[in-house]
Amino acid sequence: MTGTDATAPSDPSGVDLRSDTVTRPTPAMYERMRRAPLGDDGLDGDPTARELEALVARTLDKEAGLYVPTATMGNLLAVLAQTERQGQVLLEATAHMFLTERGGATLAGLAYLGIAGTAGAMDLDELERTLRRPGGLRTELVGMETSHANAGGAVPPLEHMRAVMEAARGAGARVHLDGARLFNAAVALEVAPAAIAGCADSVAVCLSKGLSAPAGAVLVGPTATIERARRLRKMLGGTQRQVGVVAAAGLEAIETMAGRLADDHRQARRLAEGLGAVRPGALRTNTPATNIVLADLPAHGPDSAAWTHALREHGVLVRAWGGHRLRLVTHRHIDTAAVDAAIAGFRRAADTLLG
Ligand SMILES: *Cc1c(COP(=O)(O)O)cnc(C)c1O
Repeated sequence: MTGTDATAPSDPSGVDLRSDTVTRPTPAMYERMRRAPLGDDGLDGDPTARELEALVARTLDKEAGLYVPTATMGNLLAVLAQTERQGQVLLEATAHMFLTERGGATLAGLAYLGIAGTAGAMDLDELERTLRRPGGLRTELVGMETSHANAGGAVPPLEHMRAVMEAARGAGARVHLDGARLFNAAVALEVAPAAIAGCADSVAVCLSKGLSAPAGAVLVGPTATIERARRLRKMLGGTQRQVGVVAAAGLEAIETMAGRLADDHRQARRLAEGLGAVRPGALRTNTPATNIVLADLPAHGPDSAAWTHALREHGVLVRAWGGHRLRLVTHRHIDTAAVDAAIAGFRRAADTLLG
């Protein structure tokens, strides 16, 4: 790393708005990784990983925690550990677990069913109807997501989450929360993370998004569920050895990085406002509740691929999110100057593409 800043964005030639996963570890994380007490997590336990599991469980007011390589594995383990085969899992129809992780159904032996939603919140009437449908599959698990990635980082209100939990429990189903960005949601709602986690039996949080750890996620829940998930993690090949060297960055992430997420939310709002003014009426964005901006492109103009390419030419990295939609995510390496540079890049791309 001689002569380079380990905390700098991954692509110094561009403003990288593709995802908050591009964030690099902080200097304090590297220092903590170097000093972390280590053990064999497949034998008698890695002390740093165990400390992280206990910290996240305490923070979210759950009995126990399990360190996993990714939130994807955490979500899958939550399903496997809390269900019997041949039932169903209900998810909001645009949830990450439904659109991106549904292949897990082929491993779990369960049907995944999408429930229509608005701004990431399931339609409660449709949920109730599905839970009570005569002759339908037995619902084993109901999943929620906050902040909701595909709904532009929307944060469903706690009352909604409690209503979903009550409906699920009334039908004898467990409740899992895909809280990959739960700490962003807590900032947006101005509540403790545990208040959100209280709306579910199990919760998965991702450490490698806005929290800036290089890798890792934690699944928390009741002791019996986590013990079962720990055995299943081994089966999936998710048990790692001296994993404390990475878990140490996760400890630093949970202890120190949640507080600064409000900055990312502010920058997302600045970005959305700036984009809205590039070509009034042509580029339309959500009003971001957290750190995700969705920009809708003129429907009859150049598509997302053309915009992504043109923006790259102007030093702005974004992702296509459908045929005429772009996704932009703010994070620790995106300051006000970067946001303004991105807006300027959009202006130049619009000149090229829209004339
Ligand atoms: C990123 C993400 C995941 C998956 O997290 P990984 O750690 O990358 O596996 C799951 N759910 C949501 C909502 C996400 O945004």
